[in-house]
Amino acid sequence: MPKGSFLSKALAATFIVLTISVIGGIITMIILYKTEISGMNPTARPTLPPTTTAPPPVMRLPPNLVPERYTIFIQPHFYTKIIEEVNVTSPNQTMLFTGNSTVEFRCVERTSTIYLNSKDLKVSNPLVKNTKTNEKIPHSSMISHDDESNFLEIPLNEHLEAGKNYSLFLDFEGEISVNLEGLYLSSYVEGGPAYEGDRNAERFLVATNLQPTDARRVFPCFDEPQLKAEFDVTIIHRRGTDALGNAKVEDFRILDDEWEMTRFKLTPRMSTYLFAFTVSEFEEFTVSKPTPENVDVKIYARPDAVKAKSTEYAASITGNILMFYEDLFDMTYSRTLGKLDQIALPDLYPAAMENWGLVTYQEGGLLYEEGVSSLLHKEEIVTVIAHELAHQWFGNLVTMKWWNDIWLNEGFATYMSYFAVDNVEPSFNVKDMYAMNDLHIAFQEDALASSHPLSPPQEDVQTTSQITEMFDSITYSKGATILRMLSDIVGEKVFNKAVKMYLKEFAYKSAEQKNLWEKIILAGEGQFNDIAMKMEPWTKQIGYPVITINTTIGEVYQKHFLFNSSSESSLWWYIPIRVMPDTSTDPVWLLSNERVRNEKFLSEPGKWILANVNCTGYYRVNYNPENWEHLLTQLEVKPSPIPLMNRAQLIDDAFNLARAKLVDVTLALNTTRFLHSETEYLPWESAVRNLEYFFLMFDRSEVYGPMQAYLQEQVKGLYDFFSNYTDHSQVPKDHSSQYSQIIAIEVACSNGLKKCVTMASSMFSLWMNGTNIINPNLRSVIYCQAVAAGGKEEWEFAWERFQTTNDTSEKEQLRKALSCTKTTWLLGRYLDYTLNPEKIRLMDVASTIIYIAKNEAAQAQVWNFIRAHWDYISLGDGAMVIQAVTDRFSTKFELEELERFAKDYDLRSATRAVEQAIEQTQVNIQWVRENKDNVLEWFEKNI
Ligand SMILES: [Zn+2]
Repeated sequence: MPKGSFLSKALAATFIVLTISVIGGIITMIILYKTEISGMNPTARPTLPPTTTAPPPVMRLPPNLVPERYTIFIQPHFYTKIIEEVNVTSPNQTMLFTGNSTVEFRCVERTSTIYLNSKDLKVSNPLVKNTKTNEKIPHSSMISHDDESNFLEIPLNEHLEAGKNYSLFLDFEGEISVNLEGLYLSSYVEGGPAYEGDRNAERFLVATNLQPTDARRVFPCFDEPQLKAEFDVTIIHRRGTDALGNAKVEDFRILDDEWEMTRFKLTPRMSTYLFAFTVSEFEEFTVSKPTPENVDVKIYARPDAVKAKSTEYAASITGNILMFYEDLFDMTYSRTLGKLDQIALPDLYPAAMENWGLVTYQEGGLLYEEGVSSLLHKEEIVTVIAHELAHQWFGNLVTMKWWNDIWLNEGFATYMSYFAVDNVEPSFNVKDMYAMNDLHIAFQEDALASSHPLSPPQEDVQTTSQITEMFDSITYSKGATILRMLSDIVGEKVFNKAVKMYLKEFAYKSAEQKNLWEKIILAGEGQFNDIAMKMEPWTKQIGYPVITINTTIGEVYQKHFLFNSSSESSLWWYIPIRVMPDTSTDPVWLLSNERVRNEKFLSEPGKWILANVNCTGYYRVNYNPENWEHLLTQLEVKPSPIPLMNRAQLIDDAFNLARAKLVDVTLALNTTRFLHSETEYLPWESAVRNLEYFFLMFDRSEVYGPMQAYLQEQVKGLYDFFSNYTDHSQVPKDHSSQYSQIIAIEVACSNGLKKCVTMASSMFSLWMNGTNIINPNLRSVIYCQAVAAGGKEEWEFAWERFQTTNDTSEKEQLRKALSCTKTTWLLGRYLDYTLNPEKIRLMDVASTIIYIAKNEAAQAQVWNFIRAHWDYISLGDGAMVIQAVTDRFSTKFELEELERFAKDYDLRSATRAVEQAIEQTQVNIQWVRENKDNVLEWFEKNI
């Protein structure tokens, strides 16, 4: 509908049209909610118009038409409650949504066909007009391409001329999804059920989740990120519900007894994947000052959660984070939107989505329950909010041109969140911890030959599955790590200046990575003209290097670091190296793949050299044996001269170099010897994470016993350090000490330290008898350890609590704890529950299976389960599930099974994960064969 002819009468007319089409369609479209949810079969698709079987020319829309504005009406027909009372006829739930859209677009290249995207929608009544003359353009029948392009093709009988503006009107209808995709249904229980099986307390809402390619399932559109447009949106919803959209409300009116409408103000130019709306009975909570001027900041949640004040913590930090970014980026949050809503949804996958002006979160990402949530949960909330709010600039204001550069969204949002969290919660001291965490996550994935470049060529990222696969740890963690390295190379001042210039120039537009290098050059005023040359090997090649320093002759060289040492690679990088004890401010550059000598790598006799100080570089470091020896001695005698991050990194490097067979495995194990007197979190975390690989490889073998005995010894000091707190169920004040305390309990209990297991079991049994004295911080670990040490009674108690509690945190802690039992039939029962969305929510299916897969007692069971139910599991995050269940694979038999799985199953977006798992299994088989004896001997000797 063209602009201007719009209000009152036209709106009423539209509504009538909608209602009539509803009556026609309602008979075929009504889906009984219960049948749908219990069957969990993929939603039946509406009938599509005639379909062509010929493949489309490409997956991408032709560049001849550029959208400028969408005017959209959408009416979701669902009910928020289905009351079942005697003598009251309640309507059945309906999953229908109907609507129409008018997209105005500019023709930039003469054409006689309109291509746009539409998926699972019944589209009808196309009307093409010249917007200036209002003349209709005649057309032939529409063609829906029944393939991954999701093209809707409208062949015209006349040409559209370059330079002219046109509009396309379409009616559409579709089904509200139950799979958390597109426009989907979510539910929660209000108050509490009056009796078991009481459905009257159940409430429904709808929300959208459109990244990356699901906008086309809600309305026909040019569904590519660079095709930005303004959105004029009207939602028609049932009386008594509230609709939220990207922008502020422009108009609200009651239409009749059953329906009302909310029309939103025009949005700024934005990508289709950022379009969002919700319809619910949620309540709002206004965020207290300080907030940016002229921006209304609100949080929405279930009425019960707002009443319980669970939105308060998020409300207390949101304004500060927004203002911090406004200042850092020198760019205000969108005043066109003038509002930022954050909503806690009972169902959402992934954890949160940055929709412009309407950020959606899983409840755990936004709700903090005083006395129930752990203190550390605050960190999760502030981190996810900081990430999503950074996207309001990186992603929403400036968007990547195409999905191959999604790291410009995710890498920036991840990296910027370090600073925002540090600013609003300085006592959490997260900057180093987050940098270290991202570095290690990226290192892990990127050491496989089947990794992918941070910024692959566009043609490698075409289909929806390929795009979805891009949302992985390379994009997020390597993205953030590379930005941290860039900032270190050019200095924070130049980096921040370039960031501001980048945001200013590309606001409301799209950018690619070369635009970032251009701004660095400008901001650096000639100092960094070769930055693209230096950075692109890091973004366009897979993997990362290991540098090897020989400190006796001052020599250094690089090599592509791969776990699989038989993989050949000639890749190399421009590497900035900061060295200790050298104190100059500029890094030494390694600019070739040759062996290079430099006196900065030459050590004084008996002294050590440390490279990659504070781990600002994305590479590993190996040394000559003498230097390793000096470093290890320093760690055992007095670790403090070595920066904390490097203490953790030395462990991580040694273990991973051993995995790649570049050093002996005993060197890696030797780096854990100083831990008996270490109480800092980072080194312990690094050791525990690395030893996890040893557990995965050996927890089904005779190495397990001596390994447990060694760790019991090493952790005693740390456990005792915190026992005054732990025994009284208290926690230290310092944030990172709180982490260390949890590690202490986890390592001590899981390796069988008696006093730890007794402590956990007795606290849990106190709870079973009525009083839960367990500190919220320690609940997750103690619940798990108590369930592991217990049997049927403990498990069933935990399950009962899991079902009845309305606290999001408590639910999460219990969901994890239930996976810790060692009893096989209980594990089997729990696995079966993941198939029933009334027991385990769809968004939690993948993570629950992953929890269970981590338990060695469930290994074979989970693998069988995944294969038996792959159709269902792969609807969610199949890639993560595959990664978790294959973590222990280290036999030829397991490899063959995995290869058979790859051949026989439709892997969907888990294709790369399966490839990586096969490669990892091959590496594991060889590693176990070569190292098992040495490892066993080392542990036996060091007990
Ligand atoms: Zn993100």
